[in-house]
Order: sequence, then structure tokens, then C-alpha cells
Amino acid sequence: MPAAERPGVQILRCQRCGTLDAGPRLLCPKCHASALDPQEVDGAGTLLSWTVIRRAPARLKSLVPYAVCVVDLDAGVRVTGRLRSIEGGACGTRVHCVAREGAVAIFSAEV
Ligand SMILES: [Zn+2]
Repeated sequence: MPAAERPGVQILRCQRCGTLDAGPRLLCPKCHASALDPQEVDGAGTLLSWTVIRRAPARLKSLVPYAVCVVDLDAGVRVTGRLRSIEGGACGTRVHCVAREGAVAIFSAEV
């Protein structure tokens, strides 16, 4: 998928101090301001950790098995999402967002 076609990741940016946060939340974790703007940032980052979910809550049972992950985005914020493949990858692998399902970012290894 060409970089220009890749979806971004939805995060929150504090209007007062500029802190980026994965959200959802009502107050900035740094300055406690309530003015948090939704913002889309580039979905490229580094895979920090992941695990495969085989017993899911009822609303996610149709997805089983699926992999959830934690990604440090190059934009400077840590987000959770899902991996496209349950094969995962080594921690430290470069990944990018390839799709979004609602607010959930789906990541895959960069190729
Ligand atoms: Zn703030």
C-alpha cells in the first residue's frame, strides 16, 4: 500500500499544551485542560508489544482469534490497535496503519 493511501490514526491533541494522547479521555493528562481536539496523525510507528486474543468478549467473538498491539507512533504517541495478522512480529518491527474499523487502527508490518 503506497504511503499516500495509508489511513492515519485518530488521536487527541490538547489545545493548551499540545500534548498528544491516544484517548478517549475528557482531560489532558499533562495540564488537565478539557479542550482536546481530535486529530489524525501518520500511522507509521514501531511495534512495542502484541498478543493474540482467543477468548473475547461477546461483541468481539466474531473476530477471534485476533491480535491486539501497542505501537509507538512516529508522531510521538503510544496507541493500542489490532494487527492484521495473528502471526504478529518481533517487537521493534516497523508497522503502519493499513485500515481503521471505527476508532480502532489496524496495523501491519511495513514492506
Ligand atoms: Zn494539555
